[in-house]
Amino acid sequence: MDFAYLTSFEKRKQADALLLPFWREEQRAEPAHSLTKECSLLLRGVLATGDFKGKEGELLYLYVEGEPEKRVCLLGLGAKNQVTVENLRRSYGSFTKSCLNKRLKSVNLIPPESERLSEEALIRGITEGLLLANYVFHPLKHRDPEEPEETLLQKITWIGSHAQVLARVRDIALICEAVDYARNLVNGNADEITPQYLAQSAQEMAKKHPSIKTTLFDKKRIEKEALDLLLAVNRGSALDPALIIMEYRGNVDSDEHTILVGKGVTYDTGGLNLKPTGSMETMKCDMAGGAACLGVMLAVSQLALKVNVTIVVPTTENGIDAKSFKPGDVYRSYSGKTVEMTNSDAEGRLILADALAYAVKNLHPTRIIDIATLTGAIEIALGSEAAGLMSPNDELADLLQKAGEATFERVWRMPLFDEYQERLKSEIADDATDYGVHLLVEFLQTHLTSASSGA
Ligand code: ZN
Ligand code: ZN
Repeated sequence: MDFAYLTSFEKRKQADALLLPFWREEQRAEPAHSLTKECSLLLRGVLATGDFKGKEGELLYLYVEGEPEKRVCLLGLGAKNQVTVENLRRSYGSFTKSCLNKRLKSVNLIPPESERLSEEALIRGITEGLLLANYVFHPLKHRDPEEPEETLLQKITWIGSHAQVLARVRDIALICEAVDYARNLVNGNADEITPQYLAQSAQEMAKKHPSIKTTLFDKKRIEKEALDLLLAVNRGSALDPALIIMEYRGNVDSDEHTILVGKGVTYDTGGLNLKPTGSMETMKCDMAGGAACLGVMLAVSQLALKVNVTIVVPTTENGIDAKSFKPGDVYRSYSGKTVEMTNSDAEGRLILADALAYAVKNLHPTRIIDIATLTGAIEIALGSEAAGLMSPNDELADLLQKAGEATFERVWRMPLFDEYQERLKSEIADDATDYGVHLLVEFLQTHLTSASSGA
């Protein structure tokens, strides 16, 4: 994606559309930027009809001649005195979707002015809305050769803006790129996105970003290290498991070291406790926690954040075979504790237990956050509006909750009653749309960088 800015409305260059923002005020649309007065001649008739009301996400395209753009798009942002960053994300997201449908590539954009939101909040809402919706996954789709190829929005010019706006927009774009990176891993076929594919992706990322050090454990090394729960889950699969460790040291003066552990089950059949029809079809997404960790690593290194982060991704299929691990049997974990495995579909906690124990023993964390598509039960409790968060640490839970609010990848803290202790092992179970990439980068960027610079 290309970004540019112009201070002057008159000097704007050719683009597929000019995007004008409107508030909804007393049942009618009101221009959300003083520059739009320049277009008042063009708009007067339209606004007088009351057809366009400025509701959140409402769109009206006008086709014009003699302007640098062939189209003017009126975008509704909802009520001026109630607007939030998330309202902006949704409105601008609906605009991007219309661009994908119309195959528009370039946009001249006039941002809204708001007394309620800071400039930073406006930039964030607009940019995240535009970019997070600017995604299609179609490598597996048959395409009619007669039809024009699907295109994404490619250039956005901010009109009436300044250079600092652009710097912030570019930073947000890097995080959105990392979200798309994770989305592609989650959406790809399980036959393609294997443990070996994830390991290779990690290696390729590290090659491009020398600030990352990658260590990959293959099956032999996993056997040598005795990560036996990961090996047990892997027994029903024709593919080897892998353990991916990526380290990023952005602040050598700090002892702070955050470790993110992500579940990387590239396909979950349930094992001998086979999942029924209706429950298995989405199970290529069971590596979303691992994909989120890889996305975070990409964002953190691209943004050159002053934090120390390591990701650990245990990855395997949970397949089914005569060699499958058996419900009722007892397996030894990396930590030395033994586990009575009662249901082979509860494989996530097994591979995470080994990865967590390995991280604690060998990688010297000051905090660990694990992220996983761990159980459908959390969706029964919270719906898909929030991910469950479990933590014994009030301060960390609070910061993660704040990062979730800021990114609208909300988390809801669940209890950890003493009576649960035997049953609960992980801190986060997540199945949110953007897989937590945004939330975790926000957490690292806002809370850790300010904490360490204050220390
Ligand atoms: Zn499972
Ligand atoms: Zn699973």
